[in-house]
Amino acid sequence: MPEPEANKMELIDRCEIFGLQVRGVEIDPNTRCAHWHGPTDVIAIKFPCCDTFYCCNECHQALADHPPAVWSKSECNVRAVLCGACGHVLTIREYMACNSRCPNCAANFNPGCRNHWTLYFEQ
Ligand SMILES: [Zn+2]
Ligand SMILES: [Zn+2]
Ligand SMILES: [Zn+2]
Repeated sequence: MPEPEANKMELIDRCEIFGLQVRGVEIDPNTRCAHWHGPTDVIAIKFPCCDTFYCCNECHQALADHPPAVWSKSECNVRAVLCGACGHVLTIREYMACNSRCPNCAANFNPGCRNHWTLYFEQ
């Protein structure tokens, strides 16, 4: 029996990054994905619906079997934002106040992420 051809086309959709399992479409070791892969696209966000880190909302949409949930305001002290440059996990409050810069390693984060916070955090 020949092997099914589909196996050869399998895309990378998960990676262990600083000891944490992160999911994303074509994920790289610094949490970049098929949707966001610029030099500063180095954060992954944990989703409260599945307690799982994803590179971005579109990755959750592509790989999860359920609709995404957002973090409520009262959960701002949850460690939910992973810096793909150093492995530090920021609380939501810390991330929102960090000025697009990792407080641990000073890596720059994409300042444009701010425009998508409503996809992840209750405003
Ligand atoms: Zn989820
Ligand atoms: Zn993505
Ligand atoms: Zn960092």
